[in-house]
Amino acid sequence: MRKFRFKWLAAGLAIAAFTGSQAQAEPAALYHGGPIITMDGDSPETVEAVVVRDGLIAFAGPEAKARTLAGADAIDRDLHGATMLPGFIDAHSHFTAALQGANTLDLSDPPVKDIPGLLDALHAYVAARDIPEGGWVIATQYDQEELSERRQVTRAELDAALPGRKVVLLHISGHGLVANSTALAAAGIDETTAVPPGGMILKDEQGQLTGALFESASFLLFPVMPQPTEEEKLAALDAAQMRYAREGYTHAQDGATQASDLPFFLSEAAGEHMFIDLALLPFYTQLDDLLSRDDLQFGSYRGHVKLQGIKFILDGSPQARTAYFTRDYANGSPAGHHPWHGQPVVDEETFTRLARKVNDRGWQIFAHANGDAAIDMAIHAFDALGIVAGDDRRPIVIHSQFQRPEQLADYARIGVGPAYFTNHTYFWADVHRSNFGKEVVDFISPLRAAKAAGLHPSNHSDFPVTPLDTRLMMWTSMARVSKSGVVSGPDQRVSAYAALQALTTGPAWQIFEENRKGRIHAGLLADFVVLDRNPLETPTDAIRDIAVLETIKEGRTIWSRN
Ligand SMILES: [Zn+2]
Repeated sequence: MRKFRFKWLAAGLAIAAFTGSQAQAEPAALYHGGPIITMDGDSPETVEAVVVRDGLIAFAGPEAKARTLAGADAIDRDLHGATMLPGFIDAHSHFTAALQGANTLDLSDPPVKDIPGLLDALHAYVAARDIPEGGWVIATQYDQEELSERRQVTRAELDAALPGRKVVLLHISGHGLVANSTALAAAGIDETTAVPPGGMILKDEQGQLTGALFESASFLLFPVMPQPTEEEKLAALDAAQMRYAREGYTHAQDGATQASDLPFFLSEAAGEHMFIDLALLPFYTQLDDLLSRDDLQFGSYRGHVKLQGIKFILDGSPQARTAYFTRDYANGSPAGHHPWHGQPVVDEETFTRLARKVNDRGWQIFAHANGDAAIDMAIHAFDALGIVAGDDRRPIVIHSQFQRPEQLADYARIGVGPAYFTNHTYFWADVHRSNFGKEVVDFISPLRAAKAAGLHPSNHSDFPVTPLDTRLMMWTSMARVSKSGVVSGPDQRVSAYAALQALTTGPAWQIFEENRKGRIHAGLLADFVVLDRNPLETPTDAIRDIAVLETIKEGRTIWSRN
């Protein structure tokens, strides 16, 4: 970050010294000397050179012409053989999560391996932070599948290990948590608490709370948990953006913005601190409040921040067995009950009613749906609203993971953009295979079939659910190999070019910015990523090892490895 600020400042000083005035335009920059993949069109094309002026791409084409256009005073940006691409566009992640690291314990770094190890990590955190009795201990990236016991830690175990503290372990899926007695009491949750619609409050055989809350039931705890202050968030904003920039992203998404965070993101102070673009998806639970405001401009930037659309959640996650399917999970419900095929978080009627308000207002709809039954709900609602592809409303179904093949035709008819999540083929395909048949898991995040159906698919990390690593995402969409080495749907593997489209042109279309970002073409933003190897000429197994050398936003270097 320091480096970025310094470079920006240094460039400004250089211009001032050269021209004797700060009002003069900056000289053009000439990029050349390595493959420049434009992502313009359906097959790979490279150009020799790019001219950048005032943050925009002025020219992309032959080097001789570029030199003439750039002028004698152009800044020379020799790639020295490195590969340049359009900056990556984050199709779905949770930027807010990158802001919250300061006051939480990350259980994945270093990873805890079993329940005693988990309790030790919590102890060490309490000691290091000197957290007093009554204080909050909030841990993130909790995943019982990564514990050797392969079960949830219990309220009783947390009570015994950390008496007096309020302990909350946030599940890696973002769809649940485990809390101890003191934390549950702070939120007024006990055995008699009514289960909110679409939620689960787990109890043991004696009817006692286990501490595990899923989906809407987990929301009961959030209001009493401490939130970072405005000052803490501002201080964390630079580091949060650098986490994206170092992966080559020039655009990030906050995939479920809480109403309480909106004033911060829309503030002038936050706007001044943003140097990558950020698209916000306000969460639907405060929809009426949002609709009543006439100061909210959706679809256009203020500085680097844009209100993109409204985020709905229709179901849970398949690895936590809370996604909503038309078929049963072999392993039953999270509590082990059979038969179980998940459940929706909102009923179809409610979703349709709320989605209609959003659509009538001209705002874009983003619906999280993992299981095929939740995807059916989205399709039914869009049909009820009369949305067809020709209207160009572009409703986005985030994850769209367990689609049935025939649902792709529905997407094409309605004009839905699927935001896929191929990292599941690596991280959780083995878990999915224990629940569902091969043909179901083989069609997870079907990038290739979606392209064949004429859709504009994107690929995402859902950070903090999986790492922001863009090359890992490329690799999972190309290899589809699980942790245990099983390939899910070899016929859905994509080429390196299609993998890159899902990180550039696909997400640009999904946010209505295809004429602004995602390609290297005259008139578009000069947002680039420079890689140490050309992904189009790298064997699939080595894709993960490609390094980001530099990230450039509107002509400015915002991150570089050296
Ligand atoms: Zn998400």
